[in-house]
Amino acid sequence: MEVVIVDDYLKLSKLASDVFLDLIKKKNDCVLGLATGSTPIGLYKNLVKAYKNKVVSFKNVTTFNLDEYVGLGMENSQSYAFFMYENLFKHIDINYKNVHIPNGKAKDIDKECSFYSGLLSKTPRDLQVLGIGSNGHIAFNEPFTTFESKTHTVSLAESTVNDNARFFLSKDKVPDTAITMGVSEIVNAKKVLLLAFGNNKSRAVYEALTKPVSTAIPASVLQNHPDCTVILDKEAASLL
Ligand code: PGA
Repeated sequence: MEVVIVDDYLKLSKLASDVFLDLIKKKNDCVLGLATGSTPIGLYKNLVKAYKNKVVSFKNVTTFNLDEYVGLGMENSQSYAFFMYENLFKHIDINYKNVHIPNGKAKDIDKECSFYSGLLSKTPRDLQVLGIGSNGHIAFNEPFTTFESKTHTVSLAESTVNDNARFFLSKDKVPDTAITMGVSEIVNAKKVLLLAFGNNKSRAVYEALTKPVSTAIPASVLQNHPDCTVILDKEAASLL
């Protein structure tokens, strides 16, 4: 695991987007694992800028998102499908046929999980970007999720509902269930990029990077990944 500490969020986003852009330039049909939340917004802004400056094209790129709230779809501005459209997809030349996000509005959610899992096993990701929850979660794999897990539904931890309430009108509007890519699928990506900024992530970062690997801290599984780079700002790295 390589750990890179930079001064601020701008530098973190620049380094992260450089990793993405290098890959897309080398392999224009690469498969990307994408995340939502505040962490990757700067990365996506840089990718959009690079596309507008004709540095890269996303025409042949395939994407898989980590998760989605159960019950929310594209028409809901809090859905992750909407987030991806607003922050990345509507600005670039991606082919929507190649975009994959778990369908939170599927009639049969268990079937949707198996379907998504099947797609992931057929389509290895070259690069997966991840944020980290203040409780150490990756995607919506909350503490004590098994490392063997595949795409599944999850009841969100109280701390996750609290953390994500800022995106909703009120805390009681945050869905309590989500579909998430499983830990075994996340670590299957050839390269993983874990990003964290801000003081509220410092404890989770410290535990994930320095404590023994344990399901109590889902992100600690990345210590065993053969090609994981962690990019932190000074605040997120403050306890290291
Ligand atoms: P954030 O979420 O990027 O909004 O901080 C990260 C996460 O919960 O995994």
